[in-house]
Amino acid sequence: MAIRLNDLVEGGVLYHRRKNSVTGQIFLRDVREPITLELTGNPEEDLDGRSFEFVMPESPDETSDEDYEIARAMESRQIGVVGEITAARKVRTVAAKDVEGSAATSAGIWQFCLYMEWFGQNGRVVAELPGAHIRLLDIDVPPVDDDPAPPESGPAEAESALGDEAAWDGGGEPDDDTDEDPYHLFDEDLEAQIAASADTEDGFFSGSDEGADIIDNLERMDAQMESGDTMPMRDLLDGGTVLPAADEISEDEAAALLKKLLARFALFGIAFDMCEHATARQAYQVLLEDVIDGENVLPGMFGSGWVQHFGTHDSCPECQRELDEEMGGSGRDPAGDPDDEAPF
Ligand SMILES: [Zn+2]
Repeated sequence: MAIRLNDLVEGGVLYHRRKNSVTGQIFLRDVREPITLELTGNPEEDLDGRSFEFVMPESPDETSDEDYEIARAMESRQIGVVGEITAARKVRTVAAKDVEGSAATSAGIWQFCLYMEWFGQNGRVVAELPGAHIRLLDIDVPPVDDDPAPPESGPAEAESALGDEAAWDGGGEPDDDTDEDPYHLFDEDLEAQIAASADTEDGFFSGSDEGADIIDNLERMDAQMESGDTMPMRDLLDGGTVLPAADEISEDEAAALLKKLLARFALFGIAFDMCEHATARQAYQVLLEDVIDGENVLPGMFGSGWVQHFGTHDSCPECQRELDEEMGGSGRDPAGDPDDEAPF
């Protein structure tokens, strides 16, 4: 049920300039409007803090009309959550072409592959791009993460790690799994539910139709707001969903829950932005206490292409301080707002 863009992808650009946020654009063959990504989350370690462009070296054999239909029906501006983004994955390809970075095996060739997976308005999207040519855009910029980089991996080497096949060797064992949901983000119930909602709500797969849509959406939104036809965020979750308090779970558990919840909300066009200061637990706490249990959404806008944003920024003292500085100097409260509500 995932959307697979593999053969359609011509190239693109991806930015991880701030922790917890991946943005970029993907260009599809013969599709005029690129897919814009505004995702919450981080790529895998090999692309952490990296910005890069990539191109696919050659056209695939044949791209089916069906593929184009799917691509055109996608929301062109994808919000949601990163599943896995890495250039260190190996895939087995059958065509024994003369490809850089490949090693022959009896069953075909293993090839390094740019792999992009996210969960957006149209559900899970995967682009598996063996042979992608990658060019780093900002090799002087250190990784955004606080983790100390290995001292020997200076900028020059970092570049080769993405371009030189010799450097690929540390990439780990060939990954032969064909698991549709390797991270088990979705239990089966949730998955079935998402599939059902995607199937029944026409709008989820209706493509945007240029300018007329914008007016349409604005009118729709106005009407929605006036009629007060809102629903609590919590109603978007399965009735039986029990979410643990943030202080009862580990950082890893919080990260897993965040992925699951953000994937769910993305189906309804609801984005949850995570600022670079927030840990997974902090973000989860804001999502749970302020958004899921505090916010209402406009169900009439689901599937319209309109995106409703929530995020950690308003609750983050660091973000507020930055905002104050941008607004002109120290402001009224140079020590930062001692807002009792700020969870971190
Ligand atoms: Zn912040």
